[in-house]
Amino acid sequence: MKVAVIGAGFSGLIFSKYLLKSNIEVDLYEEHDRVGVPEHCTGIVSTATTNLIGQISRKSIIKEFKGVKLLGIKKGIPLITSKPIIKLDRVRLEVDLLNDLRDRGGRVFFNKRIKDLSALSDYDVIILADGINGYLHKSVGIGFHGRRIYGINQEFCIESNEEYFEVKFDPVTSNNFFSWFVPLGEKIIVGTGAEKMRKLKDAQRNAREYFGIKSKECKTYGGIIISGVDDAKLRTGKIIGIGDAIGLTKPLTGGGLYPNSLSAYLMHKLILKGYNVIESLEAALNFTFGLLHKSKSISLLMQRKPEIVDEIIEVAGKHGVIKQINGKIDYDLHFDLIRKAFESDASTALVRDFLKKYPLDFFRLAFAVIKDLR
Ligand SMILES: Cc1cc2nc3c(=O)[nH]c(=O)nc-3n(C[C@H](O)[C@H](O)[C@H](O)COP(=O)(O)OP(=O)(O)OC[C@H]3O[C@@H](n4cnc5c(N)ncnc54)[C@H](O)[C@@H]3O)c2cc1C
Repeated sequence: MKVAVIGAGFSGLIFSKYLLKSNIEVDLYEEHDRVGVPEHCTGIVSTATTNLIGQISRKSIIKEFKGVKLLGIKKGIPLITSKPIIKLDRVRLEVDLLNDLRDRGGRVFFNKRIKDLSALSDYDVIILADGINGYLHKSVGIGFHGRRIYGINQEFCIESNEEYFEVKFDPVTSNNFFSWFVPLGEKIIVGTGAEKMRKLKDAQRNAREYFGIKSKECKTYGGIIISGVDDAKLRTGKIIGIGDAIGLTKPLTGGGLYPNSLSAYLMHKLILKGYNVIESLEAALNFTFGLLHKSKSISLLMQRKPEIVDEIIEVAGKHGVIKQINGKIDYDLHFDLIRKAFESDASTALVRDFLKKYPLDFFRLAFAVIKDLR
């Protein structure tokens, strides 16, 4: 069994790792002369993600956060996650994954832009990990057609040792998305996302202003963030997509590392059980998409109607729900937060109060939750 993987971004690398671990031969093709370029990702992941990536991710950990400060338009609240949230050195991670892949016997071909899949017809399975900008997955009619956000990170040489990183939902520091502040000791990252490209510059300036940045940036990088799963076609015959190419990202944040690591791990487990590669991979992807769908509508609501974030903070805070759920929050399964709030002792009072004060938004929220949990 021989598999070709096209694209040595994070998804191509993590799936190659788990294929090799399943004793499958892998050839990985990348158009650049190295991995990690162009740099685009903030590198914020859950502890679960680093566990799924494996021991190798430990060397790229830059900082562990106690949790995330959730900020709405006017209100904010620190949320403690059940396990630390981690900032990874994304370029280092890809280099380490590449070395690991070679150690496991995988073959890597750099400077190799695949233009025509017929040249790979000898392979039993062809995996397209060519990213959101890739042409190959489009040429065979598979992949993501949903919502894209223009995302940008700026690094500033400013000292900050906060224990939380911050995400802010509002229409000023971002456009139908959110902005973020990541304190890393000797430097900080401020980033934002915009649904409309023409709004990105203003959002970026406003985010810098909001987070109190007056100095000039030392580094800028970014790219397209996929936000919101669609019903992408995943496979045609022996050709199957993974990663950004098929929109395998978390709906709220656009984070791609968790869903890809989870799917690669699940695929490996199914192969070990005796299922063939492509069926194992397809089943793993379908399972993960099922999970991601559960937070799709609520994510979109928070990004497009950020006043709801303030209302949740206000009502949940008043009834002590935040206190009850703090320390139990799962960073990957965002909808879990809402479910835990409704399961808490104060849920009846919370629902009554929310409905009374913000009836329209209450119905919007309830509709989104029901739609996601269907
Ligand atoms: C601003 C920003 C911030 C982000 N922050 C986070 C975060 O904090 N946490 C998180 O989990 N995720 C984050 N993400 C998302 C995450 O970075 C992506 O989901 C992930 O990098 C996607 O990996 P990929 O391998 O699918 O695609 P890519 O990284 O795009 O890799 C595709 C690769 O395929 C190669 N390629 C394309 N076509 C061909 C071809 N024909 N032949 C050969 N090679 C080809 C490309 O050169 C590239 O190397 C962020 C994204 C952005 C833009």
